[in-house]
Amino acid sequence: MKDKKTKFSCFTDGVSDFIFDATLGQPFNGSKSEGILCSHAIGDKADDLAARGTEELRRLIEQDLAALFPGKNTRAIAIERYAWQGDKYTQGAYGFYRPGQWFPVREALGTPLHDVFFAGEHLADEQGFMDGAIDTGEDAARAVIRARARTPARRHKPRSASSQH
Ligand SMILES: Cc1cc2nc3c(=O)[nH]c(=O)nc-3n(C[C@H](O)[C@H](O)[C@H](O)COP(=O)(O)OP(=O)(O)OC[C@H]3O[C@@H](n4cnc5c(N)ncnc54)[C@H](O)[C@@H]3O)c2cc1C
Repeated sequence: MKDKKTKFSCFTDGVSDFIFDATLGQPFNGSKSEGILCSHAIGDKADDLAARGTEELRRLIEQDLAALFPGKNTRAIAIERYAWQGDKYTQGAYGFYRPGQWFPVREALGTPLHDVFFAGEHLADEQGFMDGAIDTGEDAARAVIRARARTPARRHKPRSASSQH
């Protein structure tokens, strides 16, 4: 199914949700037919998929692929899955605002506190994405530079010999 011109991504209303070829542009390593498809879901659907067994998920994804590529070999060689919402450290993959939170909550989270400036995908216009995280990081860095230019540099006072322990 994979060839040099492979450019594949697709939104489905099936189990696979959003699918894309994560090995696009990579060398074939001897196989012209194998690659890695990545699929992710969000919200309630992610919870629904997390509750299903791996074999059931494999069967449902293969059904979706068979519908997309009739007559082709769409057997999944292996399937790896991870439910980020169940990870005790991240508790999710990215910020997920409830209706009505986008303006008030996001703005409050992005407001500097004294000389602390905040950045992160949760504050970005491109919320949820790397590019958004980088944009807010650059904005925060610029805000730090402006703040430093406004305030005299703090200098460490050299300790006198008697105050040293
Ligand atoms: C499975 C998955 C797939 C993704 N796929 C894509 C994709 O294809 N394209 C895309 O654009 N984005 C994707 N994203 C989203 C992207 O990874 C995030 O939007 C981006 O990494 C967020 O960057 P960030 O700097 O805001 O936060 P993070 O990258 O989460 O950085 C926060 C950092 O703070 C650290 N930290 C947390 N608490 C503390 C603390 N108390 N003290 C010190 N450090 C702390 C963390 O360890 C972490 O290193 C994906 C995310 C996931 C989970």
